[in-house]
Amino acid sequence: MRVWNDPHNGEGNGYGGGNNDLDAAKEIGKRAAKYGMRLLVDFHYSDFWADPGKQKSPKEWDGMALDDRLAAVSAYTSRSLTAIRDAGADIGMVQIGNETNNGIAGVTDFNDIPKVFNAASRAVREFDPGILIAVHFTNPEQTDTMKWRADWLAQNHVDYDVFSTSYYPYWHGSLENLTAVLKYVADTYGKYVSVAETSYTFTLDDSDGHTNTVNPNENITDENLLWEFSPQGQADEVRAVMNAVNNVGEKGLGVFYWEGAWITVGDTTGLTGEAYENRIAENRRLWETFGSGWASSFSAEYDPDDAGKWFGGSAVDNQTFFDRTGKATPALSVFDKVHLEEYLEGDADLDGYLTILDATAIQRYLADLTYLNPTAQRAADITHNNGIDILDATRIQRILAGFDDEIEKGE
Ligand code: CA
Repeated sequence: MRVWNDPHNGEGNGYGGGNNDLDAAKEIGKRAAKYGMRLLVDFHYSDFWADPGKQKSPKEWDGMALDDRLAAVSAYTSRSLTAIRDAGADIGMVQIGNETNNGIAGVTDFNDIPKVFNAASRAVREFDPGILIAVHFTNPEQTDTMKWRADWLAQNHVDYDVFSTSYYPYWHGSLENLTAVLKYVADTYGKYVSVAETSYTFTLDDSDGHTNTVNPNENITDENLLWEFSPQGQADEVRAVMNAVNNVGEKGLGVFYWEGAWITVGDTTGLTGEAYENRIAENRRLWETFGSGWASSFSAEYDPDDAGKWFGGSAVDNQTFFDRTGKATPALSVFDKVHLEEYLEGDADLDGYLTILDATAIQRYLADLTYLNPTAQRAADITHNNGIDILDATRIQRILAGFDDEIEKGE
């Protein structure tokens, strides 16, 4: 979940990209917790998109000297984490900067960037030492540079737990190289490693009238595009990237997908002429009003050269986990299917013991009063009849009463 300091102009109009400020973060965090999900909070330390090409200072920190800026980073991090947790979120990991190849929070001097990392990192540790701290870079295909970054972090005593990279197969080299780079960091410095962003195209068709980054004219050929552009190809890519991280060994933590939910706000498929123009005009109105495109025209004051020129809708509606009608693509279920967590048969609340509370959890789940995560759902189906039903609760009650056999360990 990305968080921007202040993605609004002076009149309060949002820059777009979901207008993801602290209020949005609180709401998303609360919803994730409701469904049993822990959160990776990705602070961009900017008012809008941060990537290798831009790491612009938040407006509020413009002109600040380094020491003041470090204090601002620290205070902002503490304040934001407190607010997100107070809203009900379960924060598992905090990412201190987004694709910070060339800077962070407006700081671009390579002697000073580590100081910003540590200001953020210290704030997270003080907030909760149980939260994992991630750093994030991209361009793993630049193998030596990527290894140098890990060396540079160590030389500058940056305190972090997870070294993460983006991996887009259109640009970022082979899966074997991805594994090798991450393995170097894991083996040399004992850090966890992860892929913080990956995605794949399930169709070359655009569905919102805003040109996609992968389209019939761009990014469709490369020796590392090993899968066809289809729903199955997208699922295969997700599985293959997970495998590449897993091949690192026990320090290979996992994979995040970006951007799984950025579907069209109004389907343009099959429309022509006036109908097409009308639909796009309506989409533009929605992007501008609700910030549902990648950038709105209001971002021009902050980012005149990129967002200010090319603002509009979704450039990745053909790489989401949902097709243009909102139906989930098979890639979404890969995350469930690779689950390796061990569980005890019947232990629906995953507390490690079989108790009457597990039967209660199943009854509550069946009544739509609670959510069970994928591991819990497997554990709950103790009768193995391919679904959770009241027989599972009954079976648990019988086992506890001594009527049925002992339980076994599942996987
Ligand atoms: Ca599009």
